[in-house]
Amino acid sequence: MFFELPSFEHVDARDLKEVASLLKRYGGRAAVIAGATDLLGLMKDRVEGPECRIPEALVNIKKIPEMTRITYDKETGLRIGAGVTLNRLVASEVIQKEFKVLSQAALQVGTTQLRNMGTLGGNLCQRPRCLYFRHPDFVCFKKGGDRCYATTGEHRFYHAILKHGRCVMVHPSDLAPALIALKAETILMNSNGNRKIPIEEFFLGPNHYGETILNPDEYLAEIYIPTQTGRTGQVFLKERIRHSADFALSSVAAVARISDGVCEDLRMVLGGVAPLPYVAFKAEDMIKGKKMHEGLISKAAEASVEGAKPLPMNGYKVNLTKTLVKRALASILNGIAA
Ligand SMILES: Cc1cc2nc3c(=O)[nH]c(=O)nc-3n(C[C@H](O)[C@H](O)[C@H](O)COP(=O)(O)OP(=O)(O)OC[C@H]3O[C@@H](n4cnc5c(N)ncnc54)[C@H](O)[C@@H]3O)c2cc1C
Repeated sequence: MFFELPSFEHVDARDLKEVASLLKRYGGRAAVIAGATDLLGLMKDRVEGPECRIPEALVNIKKIPEMTRITYDKETGLRIGAGVTLNRLVASEVIQKEFKVLSQAALQVGTTQLRNMGTLGGNLCQRPRCLYFRHPDFVCFKKGGDRCYATTGEHRFYHAILKHGRCVMVHPSDLAPALIALKAETILMNSNGNRKIPIEEFFLGPNHYGETILNPDEYLAEIYIPTQTGRTGQVFLKERIRHSADFALSSVAAVARISDGVCEDLRMVLGGVAPLPYVAFKAEDMIKGKKMHEGLISKAAEASVEGAKPLPMNGYKVNLTKTLVKRALASILNGIAA
């Protein structure tokens, strides 16, 4: 079923304050629009829920200079405006050199055309890819219904093996695991000012209608990434069905600080397997403070999916994820990811 876009107002915000005042003025009836690659499709398909109505007004952030800036200072770190496009993340020399896990993740999002339009903020705030959620005829849990159709229906690709609840979707963003691995922070703004939240706290779990902690009058202004200290190994690996453009069946982002073969610090985050980017704490703890070797890597790979509860048709994701974790850690051990 194809619908036309509903009518809406479109407002170009001139600065960060104006975004906040417009969101406040429309009182939950407005949405931020950036590259529009996700939002307009959702509006055409009439996807709405108790906390996410079809917007009557769209507040365009792309004309605000701060939103499209990338600035780096070795002392203070990297700041990226939420309106920076994915292809600019890929092309940025400083990101390629110092934060390469982010550049690798951005390069694996969709197609060139999509990366030219899609933005950092839109990637982090995009909605799930579950076919039932996106279909106008299915009023699933996230849309205010009382059931999840995917548990007994089609769930081979974009559904979870870990941490699922009333909804079994996976978080679709490739950038989120990479940013958590880099210990990034989000800067969120509303008309009262801003708040800084570690990015792993930005995402909600499976029993919420929305996927982020943003309030209706609030938006994502900027991402901050601290300078990485010491020698780091960074890697993002992703498996998908169509290599030309597809969401992750499973992905892993890892950032490790290595000294004399000993892993002093490790942040490892899985994508495509849980309703939110999944930090593999147990696997991290096995590796941290130890000399890395193949046996330890195999054990950490097992630990990374401990507690997995695959659905009837996505059990293959368990082994797939273990394999990706092994490859990621091996590339760090062998210095390939340096
Ligand atoms: C064919 C296709 C393939 C794709 N493949 C992948 C993939 O492999 N990996 C992957 O990670 N993603 C993939 N995506 C998703 C894609 O990355 C997102 O559609 C894109 O990044 C969204 O950015 P945008 O600027 O277009 O967002 P928009 O469509 O403008 O907005 C998306 C949502 O985010 C909100 N929003 C946007 N910016 C802000 C902000 N600053 N503050 C608060 N809310 C905001 C909007 O209100 C809206 O709800 C794919 C999408 C398509 C259509």
